[in-house]
Amino acid sequence: MKIVFLGTSATFPTKDRNHTAILLRYSSEALLFDCGEATQKQLRISGESPMKITKIFISHWHGDHVLGIPGLLQSMAMNNRKEPLEIFGPEGSDQMFWKIYHAFQIKAPYNITVHEIKNLRSIKSVCVSGNYEVLAMKVQHSIPCIAYAFQERSKYRIKKDFVRKYNLQGNPLLKKLQQGKDIVYNKKKIRAKDVTFVNYGKKVTIILDALYEEKLAKIAENADLLICEGTFSNKMREKVKEKGHMTVKQAAKVARKAKVKQLVLTHFSQRYKNLNELAKEAKSVFRNTKLAKDFMVVNV
Ligand SMILES: [Zn+2]
Ligand SMILES: [Zn+2]
Repeated sequence: MKIVFLGTSATFPTKDRNHTAILLRYSSEALLFDCGEATQKQLRISGESPMKITKIFISHWHGDHVLGIPGLLQSMAMNNRKEPLEIFGPEGSDQMFWKIYHAFQIKAPYNITVHEIKNLRSIKSVCVSGNYEVLAMKVQHSIPCIAYAFQERSKYRIKKDFVRKYNLQGNPLLKKLQQGKDIVYNKKKIRAKDVTFVNYGKKVTIILDALYEEKLAKIAENADLLICEGTFSNKMREKVKEKGHMTVKQAAKVARKAKVKQLVLTHFSQRYKNLNELAKEAKSVFRNTKLAKDFMVVNV
């Protein structure tokens, strides 16, 4: 799995940082999390094809997270895309999306489905697809906002010595064991749990624009990678609540509580020309922290 940071700035884009967008490449698909202004240009620079995007997950409808949508969709239309596109977002997304679609006269020759995620009381699976699912959790911001987690499916693998011992190479019974089902072979019952082991699927959690609260750790639990907003330094800790954002230390606290393997911070306020101080603060709470840059790639 490959993650490409297409934009890492907060409200204002800067000379070096674009508005927020994160591309997740998995198998032949690309999933886009938020689509800030000029995301399609960032895709061009990064060499990633916008035509591979099958799903767009929107955290919320603040401009710095969605202004790139009309341009991206229009380019897909001009390129005569035929593959359907799915859009996921919080309450109100259906209305917001189609308003933009019509305002910009986008005439897509491909099918667009908007999935509005409503009544989120706990973590919910909102998209199930082949080898993965995407989970959603409501977060606190000034407008409805959602954090997502991409969860690859875990797989049962068969122990090699078992296959060798019973000469089972290529036997269709192996499939049953892989599904966790017991089998009977040569009149002997073989229990799936005795001859298989689990290859746990990778998990990537993306929390953008959120107030700090302890429960954020739930959606990030044991993630291989947590991407989290860290808009401000700890010096702003008194003011972050009214701004609806987090300090880097708070983001690091989420990573520590959730026991994630790696934290990458993003969505930095333009006031920070040098991010060394932010890196130091975050690492004092969670050591394996990186600060995202535009076009940075993380392989999970
Ligand atoms: Zn934002
Ligand atoms: Zn926002």
